[in-house]
Amino acid sequence: MRWLVILVACGALAQTFEQTPKDIKQGETLKVTASTNVQSARMNGITIRLFAQDGGGWLGLMPVPVLTKPGDYSLAYLDEKDAVVHSTIIHVADARYLKQNITIAPAIASLAPSPGEQQTVGNFRKEVSETRYWKEPLTPPVPGCLTSPFGAMRLQNGKPTGDFHAGVDQRGAAGTPIHPITAGVVKLVKKYNLRGGTVAIDHGQGMESIYLHMSAFAAKEGQKVTPEDVIGYIGSTGRSTGPHVHWTLYVHGEAVNPGQWMSLQNCPAAKAAPVKRKASTAKGM
Ligand SMILES: [Zn+2]
Repeated sequence: MRWLVILVACGALAQTFEQTPKDIKQGETLKVTASTNVQSARMNGITIRLFAQDGGGWLGLMPVPVLTKPGDYSLAYLDEKDAVVHSTIIHVADARYLKQNITIAPAIASLAPSPGEQQTVGNFRKEVSETRYWKEPLTPPVPGCLTSPFGAMRLQNGKPTGDFHAGVDQRGAAGTPIHPITAGVVKLVKKYNLRGGTVAIDHGQGMESIYLHMSAFAAKEGQKVTPEDVIGYIGSTGRSTGPHVHWTLYVHGEAVNPGQWMSLQNCPAAKAAPVKRKASTAKGM
């Protein structure tokens, strides 16, 4: 009986709080874990929920927005009354994202969103659902290389726009099948003026993804999908001038770098002629 008491006491003392990776950069995702029930975590004004995991412990995904100033930030673990149960300092490093000049043809630049397009996608980004469908490793939706990487600060005619590329553009022939990056539930299947053929997926517990410019769909709203499924096909619909898939990984509504979760290679041509390539995409897409 005495041993049992000692074991229980040790268990209480061994309450652990961890964050990975140790070297986090702008635009990345911090995995925040706790061995005991912790309601949420807050850093730099962003509060996220932690969820009980099947394998034990609690996990939350803390996005570090691209525009976060490099430096030290306090990460606080909070109980259900918002009281701090643990805190630690997280150093956010400069990701040194590229700067890219973009030229957009007037006919493409003047496209207006469909009625409700911005609102509907905005609402999708705000959703956080209980069930975890995502699992690692996440996998690229198509095999093609990147014609535009994540996080590139956009300049127009040499002037900063304050915008960055909130996703990646992957090359692929028109009609190439697009797969979800991990399992989830399809939330949106829509044809939009700006985004073109769009499929948005909720992967659960704060992770979501969206795929744009599709020529055709192969998924329905409400459908559960896995990476083996096809959700649509590469096209050039919406604000796009050539076949590619623009896709974004969202963590609690923030666009984060998918390169942290999977291997994505830049196209050699993108480096040789970055300005020219930008003609096929537009800000935020
Ligand atoms: Zn894009």
